[in-house]
Amino acid sequence: MNPSSFINENRGALVLFSGGQDSTTCLAWALSRFSRVETIGFFYGQRYAVELTCRHILRDRLLTVVPTWSTRLGPDHMVDLSLPEHIRNAVLADQTNSLPTAFVPGRNLLFFTYAAAIAWSRALRHLVGGMCETDSSGYPDCRDDTLKALQVTLNLGLARQFVLHTPLMWRDKAATWQLAESLGGAVLVDLIRTHTHTCYSGDRSSLHDWGYGCGTCPACCLRATGWKHYIHIRKRRRTGHTLNE
Ligand code: ZN
Repeated sequence: MNPSSFINENRGALVLFSGGQDSTTCLAWALSRFSRVETIGFFYGQRYAVELTCRHILRDRLLTVVPTWSTRLGPDHMVDLSLPEHIRNAVLADQTNSLPTAFVPGRNLLFFTYAAAIAWSRALRHLVGGMCETDSSGYPDCRDDTLKALQVTLNLGLARQFVLHTPLMWRDKAATWQLAESLGGAVLVDLIRTHTHTCYSGDRSSLHDWGYGCGTCPACCLRATGWKHYIHIRKRRRTGHTLNE
């Protein structure tokens, strides 16, 4: 598509899609709002590439959750962002900071900058990411202010009017499950529960109530706690319905 048509295209979105719970919920969010949705994924030397396998299955199955979504989902773009070895080694060697060992410096800045370049070439105006300040584990590039500043920088640097959307920014994991339910009902919740992957250990041997994972790493603990809260909220809501009827 000719980039010059950008100004007339307000309904196209590019979603940062890793195959995890958050980015899959964001993809469903975008499919419910925009007439054209494309996805972008990054390989950056992750210890486990399970998420990248999950993304293909999720893209296929999302098409069946809501009939209109199949007409909206467009191509997937994969980008190799393998970090130079000296940066990876510096991160692993730095045990003095309080950030998780999976931390990659400025990862989300890189993601959105690459996404903007692709969105520019595809005439897509909206960029969507699953960053969250509520459960960010201290990642400074997940902060709302960081991404608001990045939107200004990208718009100046590319002479465009991109809009960065972060629908999960102020949601905890329980609220993210609730958002999925509101977008695609129980079918979407179950798809995300059984086919997304967030475990740092890459473990898909055990299916828990909240999905696959080792059950002990920080990502599994966060996901399990969020699921428990979501189920609690859902039960209370259903009980409330019964009382009001
Ligand atoms: Zn785990």
